[in-house]
Amino acid sequence: MPHALIALGSNLGDRAAHLEHARAALTEIPQTKLLAFSGIYETDPVGPAGQGAYLNAAASLDTALEPGMLLSHLRAIEQSAGRVRHERWGPRTLDLDLLLYGDCVMQTDDLTVPHPRMTERWFVLKPLADIAPDVVHPVACKTIAQLLDEVEKTSNK
Ligand code: ATP
Ligand code: CA
Ligand code: CA
Repeated sequence: MPHALIALGSNLGDRAAHLEHARAALTEIPQTKLLAFSGIYETDPVGPAGQGAYLNAAASLDTALEPGMLLSHLRAIEQSAGRVRHERWGPRTLDLDLLLYGDCVMQTDDLTVPHPRMTERWFVLKPLADIAPDVVHPVACKTIAQLLDEVEKTSNK
């Protein structure tokens, strides 16, 4: 079964509860097995000013669902945590992004895989390196551990 990596984030309401809700909900997706869930990291928000800090995590799944169908399930989980879409990169109860889906490289109107901004985001790579350090990004051709190392060197974080 293809291996999918997911980024999770919350910066509104009971952030830890939203991540726990997501972890439980990921185990309920059909034809899918939750393999691992990372530690939880508090990170500074990126995007419009005045929003609170995030809690971020990552999850790995084995799934028989196609990427678009998996994204539909991720959106349903966001909505079940009360997410309302406002401004881009604004505060949200729960954000679930599909980062990688095996070696798949694809782009449709509502889904780009690999997630185009994952390689520059410490808040994505740090939790991901907990659970998938040796997974190779199919476009950058580098492991998650290498990408994290590069981001940490350039941002001094
Ligand atoms: P970013 O994508 O920079 O992390 P965001 O998560 O805040 O920003 P959203 O408002 O959650 O962005 O999503 C905007 C749209 O991105 C969604 O409607 C979805 O269709 C699309 N999208 C494209 N590629 C992906 C992906 N790999 N994972 C999740 N959503 C994606
Ligand atoms: Ca996101
Ligand atoms: Ca998103």
